[in-house]
Amino acid sequence: MAEALNIVGAGPAGASAAYAASKLGFRAVVYEANPRPAVKPCGRGIPTLSNLPFEVPKERVIADIKGAVLYVDGVKSVEVRDTVRGYIVDKEGMIRDVIASSGAELYTSSPYNASNGTVKVNGQVREVRTGLLAGGVAFYDGEKIYGVQAIVRAPRLESMDYLYIDFDTSLIGYYWIFPAEEGVEVGVGGFESPQRLRELLERYIEKHKEMLGSYSILSIAGAPIAVGGVSTGSVRGLFKVGEAAGFVLPLTGEGIRPSAISGYEAARAYLTGLDVNSVLESLNISRVVRVHRSILKALKGMSPERRRDFMFEIPAAVHEEVALGTMNINRIVKALASKPLLAAKIMKYIMIS
Ligand SMILES: Cc1cc2nc3c(=O)[nH]c(=O)nc-3n(C[C@H](O)[C@H](O)[C@H](O)COP(=O)(O)OP(=O)(O)OC[C@H]3O[C@@H](n4cnc5c(N)ncnc54)[C@H](O)[C@@H]3O)c2cc1C
Repeated sequence: MAEALNIVGAGPAGASAAYAASKLGFRAVVYEANPRPAVKPCGRGIPTLSNLPFEVPKERVIADIKGAVLYVDGVKSVEVRDTVRGYIVDKEGMIRDVIASSGAELYTSSPYNASNGTVKVNGQVREVRTGLLAGGVAFYDGEKIYGVQAIVRAPRLESMDYLYIDFDTSLIGYYWIFPAEEGVEVGVGGFESPQRLRELLERYIEKHKEMLGSYSILSIAGAPIAVGGVSTGSVRGLFKVGEAAGFVLPLTGEGIRPSAISGYEAARAYLTGLDVNSVLESLNISRVVRVHRSILKALKGMSPERRRDFMFEIPAAVHEEVALGTMNINRIVKALASKPLLAAKIMKYIMIS
């Protein structure tokens, strides 16, 4: 029988690691603390399905996004329509599919205890001394913000097929309205306390009652988001992957795709005897995380007024690069051809990353 790969956490990173193991002919054992995988609050937006390490079947796509409207402090700055610009996925179903297709043994309600390197499976204690730690943001040691999101039944937005994003320059974050099965997801993430963000979210929903129709809030939940950049390392012999290692784009909070890529590549490296941390740090997605992180740092250093001007100055094509999580330097340079001063500033942020 093939040697087994231990994986702690059944989110996008852990599932992708299990998938990579199966492709290489190894058995994977996944330990998940919750009764179900991938249940943390999440907007479930993915800019592209093409560079995920696994296929996403059509039935797991809740909405094809065909445009986006961007606001800065409530004032419209960019609108793009009529081209597919992303997807909202059934994250839980998608992760369940990936784990099932990997043939991994999945133990739910089986939390890993990092203080002694064990998991409890059906009341029995097991030692877990090797493998991957894909337990998410709780294991991340860099800077975090908080995100809080409500599922809102909103009759006027029932067939929404675009993203509504409202940057808030005082929060250095943004509000979002995304399509969902039961209505829409309205959320906010930024540099504020969880309690304050929740109050701001409730106020934001009330302020948008015209747009939402006679709405009702079905649930509200939140979680931290890693925005400090990639920080690899290990805990009791387990290599950190996914959000535990900072695989989230700091400007947008996009973490499903970066975490999935990191989990897949880390498992391949681990099982083929390569240095897991060096492989993770040299991934293309790690470079994109670094570029996002340096721009976020630059934004944090600006006054709110300067930040607002900067956000308005940025052309749609650059917003798109950020939202798509690609950061293609050639396209950014082209988009900024008529704004040499802004180009110089942005390139400086990118180059120092
Ligand atoms: C409000 C909000 C909205 C977001 N919206 C988006 C979005 O629209 N698009 C996007 O791409 N990203 C979004 N993100 C980020 C995204 O959810 C995460 O970055 C991504 O899920 C990280 O994947 P992961 O597998 O590394 O970690 P997780 O998805 O957090 O999975 C970790 C798993 O490990 C389990 N676990 C934790 N501790 C233990 C333990 N001790 N033992 C065993 N198991 C454990 C957890 O229960 C969980 O199932 C959002 C985040 C928040 C908070």
